[in-house]
Amino acid sequence: MRILLANPRGFCAGVHMAIDVVDQLLTLCPGEPLYVFHEIVHNKHVVQRFERRGVSFVEAIEDVPEGATLVFSAHGVSPAVRDLARRRNLTAIDATCPLVTKVHMEAIRYAKQGFQILLVGHADHQEVVGTRGEAPDAIQVVERPEDIPGLRIADPNKLVYLTQTTLSTDDAGVIIAALKRAFPNIKEPPSSDICYATTNRQAAVRQIAPECDVALVIGSKNSSNSVRLTEISQNVGVPAYLIDDVGELQSAWFKGGETVLVTAGASAPEDLVAGLCRTLIERYGGTIEVRDVFNEDEEFNLPATLKRLMRERGVDPDVRRIRVGHYEITAERYGATPLTIGAT
Ligand code: SF4
Repeated sequence: MRILLANPRGFCAGVHMAIDVVDQLLTLCPGEPLYVFHEIVHNKHVVQRFERRGVSFVEAIEDVPEGATLVFSAHGVSPAVRDLARRRNLTAIDATCPLVTKVHMEAIRYAKQGFQILLVGHADHQEVVGTRGEAPDAIQVVERPEDIPGLRIADPNKLVYLTQTTLSTDDAGVIIAALKRAFPNIKEPPSSDICYATTNRQAAVRQIAPECDVALVIGSKNSSNSVRLTEISQNVGVPAYLIDDVGELQSAWFKGGETVLVTAGASAPEDLVAGLCRTLIERYGGTIEVRDVFNEDEEFNLPATLKRLMRERGVDPDVRRIRVGHYEITAERYGATPLTIGAT
């Protein structure tokens, strides 16, 4: 078996930052209850590892005791949620990815300028729910081209589209083309809202998959960007399977002698990729080839609210941010054993 290991894969800067936020709070406030609104990132293992360290994940702000510390997940929240947290006197730490915040800011700005906003994305995804909450009267969600005839448009010359950050670039392109056909004067966002991590991971799959017989994507079923990676592979005719970890691997997917693409969604820890590769080698033999398609060096700062809390408790956030091999440190901190892939 040939294993083509895609690079980039796995954790993006936003996920690193969000996990770091929870990790820092556990260190900063030992023994104090810590709550996270929704899954901090959409990955079963990340959530379970934090639960084992005492973190409570809630789906309603009302479930957080008054005065407690609450983290908003990487996907962002609506102003109504932020207001409710304030009214409950919570110490709210916002781990929203800055690239999601960028879309919120665009929505606020265009709504103030009197634009109607067509938000391309999945209506029930937490990111879309949060963005929509910034300007509910101005925003309509478009999930597919078939939604376009049902839109309520006051002035086709005062329209803009924005997108969810983790869409398939292929699918978004189809929907955006349909929007432009229906509304030729629709305005584009200043820069693509689909984030660098989504774009790069999809481009890597698009490039490598045609050489492969099957693709394996490590990620959870509710991770939008992970699901999109399987779709990109399927779009080029290569069957793809989304698995949380090596335990979901099925021998029926292999006949022998395959070339296998291995990648991971932006919220999937690297130790799970390593575990998958090791099992493939043990069961089927073969070699790993790392395919570098893009190198990423993005890194996001800790949120200002957390930095303030750290200073109040005598910790200098800037000193602490010096990272050495950042994934390995994070993995150890949230309870995983970092593994090294013996790439050839
Ligand atoms: S996938 Fe993109 S938008 Fe989402 S957390 Fe990562 S960098 Fe941010």
